[in-house]
This record gives sequence, C-alpha cells and structure tokens, in this order.
Amino acid sequence: MQTEIIRVIDPERQEGDLRRAADVLRAGGLVAFPTETVYGLGGDATDDGAARKIYAAKGRPSDNPLIIHIAEPGDAGRYAVTNPMYHRLAKAFMPGPLTVILPRREIIPTSVTGGLETVAVRCPSHPVAHRLIALAGVPIAAPSANLSGKPSPTCAEDVAQDLCGRVEMILDGGACEIGLESTIVKIDGDSLTLLRPGGITYDALCMVCDRVTVADAVTHQLAADERPISPGMKYRHYAPATPVVLLDGAPEAVLAFLRQEQEHRRCAILCYDEERAALLPERVIPVGGRQDLAAQANRLFHALREADRAGADIIYAHLPPMEGLGLALYNRMIRAAAHTVRKIP
Ligand code: AMP
Ligand code: MG
Repeated sequence: MQTEIIRVIDPERQEGDLRRAADVLRAGGLVAFPTETVYGLGGDATDDGAARKIYAAKGRPSDNPLIIHIAEPGDAGRYAVTNPMYHRLAKAFMPGPLTVILPRREIIPTSVTGGLETVAVRCPSHPVAHRLIALAGVPIAAPSANLSGKPSPTCAEDVAQDLCGRVEMILDGGACEIGLESTIVKIDGDSLTLLRPGGITYDALCMVCDRVTVADAVTHQLAADERPISPGMKYRHYAPATPVVLLDGAPEAVLAFLRQEQEHRRCAILCYDEERAALLPERVIPVGGRQDLAAQANRLFHALREADRAGADIIYAHLPPMEGLGLALYNRMIRAAAHTVRKIP
C-alpha cells in the first residue's frame, strides 16, 4: 500500500486535504493524525472492518481495546451511556487529554472494545484532530500510531517509521504538545479510578471528584495471573529493543555513576539538560530540565526511539518522581524499563 503523507499547517485553509482524509476514513481506510497527546491511527469506530485493519496495521492483540474519538464532548451520548460524572469531567477537561470509560451503545462493535461492554471515549483538542473527526461525521477509533510494543509516536516521522505502507494516509501536524497518551479514568457512581495517568493529573481529577483511586497497575507490575481493569496494562508497552534501566539516587551520585558507566559501557543516557555538560557527548540525549516535567513528558518517547537507534547495549534514565505529571512519566518509564530500577547509594 502506498502511504500518502500530507503536511497540515493550517487546518482551516487546508479544509480540502482534511476532507480527503475524512473520505478515506468513511470508506473504511486508515489515517494517522496528530492529537495533543500522541499521534493516533484512525479508523471508523462504527465499522468492524476498519477496527480489524487497525489491529492488523499495528500488530496489536485484538483484546486490547481502542479509544473512540469524538468531535464534541456532547457527542459521547450517541456511542456510550453517559452519566452526571461524565458531564462534570467533560466540562472541566474536554476537549483535552482525558479518556473516560463508559458503557457502550450497540453502534460501537465489540471488535473496537476488545470484547468489553464498555467503551473508552475521548474528545481531543488538537485542531487537526478536531476538524478531521467533525468532517468524517463518525467517531474515530484511534490507538497510538505505533507498531505494538514500540514507544508511541510524537511526530509524523516516528509514525512513518512504523506505519509507512500499512496505512492510506498520514497527516503531519508537527510535534505533539503533551507527548504522553491521555489520562484514562473509569467512572463508578461518584468515584473515579485512574487507569492510566497522563496530561490530566491526579490532582486535577481531585478538583472535580472527591474520590479518586489510582489503579495498582499504574505503578506496580501485575502478577502473571492478575487481570487488570484496563486490558492495555498487561502488555509490556512503550519498550525500546535495548534494555532500559532507571536510576534512583541523589543527583550527584547518579551523575557520578553515569560518568563512570560511560568509560566502561556502550550506554545511551536520557539525561537532564543540566547534566549534559558533565557527560561525554556520545549517545547522550537531553530530555529537559530536572524540574521541567512537561518538557520531559514531551520528549520521552522520541528520546527512547533515538536511544534505541544509538547502538547502545543499555539505556539509562532517571526514575521520575510520582507527583503531578511525574506519575504519567513514571508509569511509562517503568514499563519501558520492564520495572528495572537500580538504586545508586
Ligand atoms: P492506546 O489506544 O494505545 O492509547 O491504548 C488504549 C488503552 O485504553 C488500552 O490499552 C486500554 O488499556 C484502555 N482502554 C480502552 N478501552 C477500554 C475499556 N473499555 N476499559 C478499560 N480500558 C480501556
Ligand atoms: Mg498505545
């Protein structure tokens, strides 16, 4: 299959390009597109065949459900059974990087929901995503536009690397603003369970809901026989081919360790900007300032891809704090590292 790549700089002036992409979606084809979180691999969420194509293009296990993307928060009721908590969340955080799990309506096939009776719903704020979904006139099922097991793509080049020849079209809208996938919550009456942390933080959710619980699988490894609330949690995910080790220790001790390792090993290092000058330049990838969690989130996945291509035997990165946006970083990095943390005394 020939993949057409279209650069979309101004979605209003490029309405013709977006119409063409929407036609591809309505005809059952696949279009990768930018969102504020990561790039999505879109297909018509009401079309069983399109859902199957998404799983095939990504090499994704078909029990790992897809998130459906809508143009307006108010559209959710057509595809899912909404409730007062959904509307409160929508008012506070939509359009934006929040996904809500709700009971599905019949129109969403179980091939999209991985066989579940619930469906994940999100309303993205990215202008290209918004316009594309509105023009398609159908909800768009869109997992991250990477091959299953690879880090999510945060720019069109990363999408092309994984999916060229596997999808009809890639809309290139430049780099994604947040760089980590959406926050996912499940509603149980008046309480929320945080299934995947993202751009909407635990603290932000607590402003809207008094009872927010963080699912165990966000920070801990599941036992082999454990069944997660969110099927995606059981997969290794976000993993480069090179082993990743997270370092936990005082800043000076970790830096000294890294310098020493550079002498002995072919290591790639995801370092804080402040550390760069103290390290040898080879295979060193700065990911933002130590305190700048937003920059670190924004650069993480691309940095992991870059580190993986650097020809290293091991990738070192810092263990993130669990507060604020740090929880989302922690959740992604602990998976990329297959829960390998090295304590530096
Ligand atoms: P991705 O599309 O790659 O961002 O992954 C979407 C993730 O959302 C999946 O891996 C699941 O963990 C989660 N998810 C989607 N639908 C549901 C659902 N109905 N119930 C629980 N989790 C879901
Ligand atoms: Mg994904």
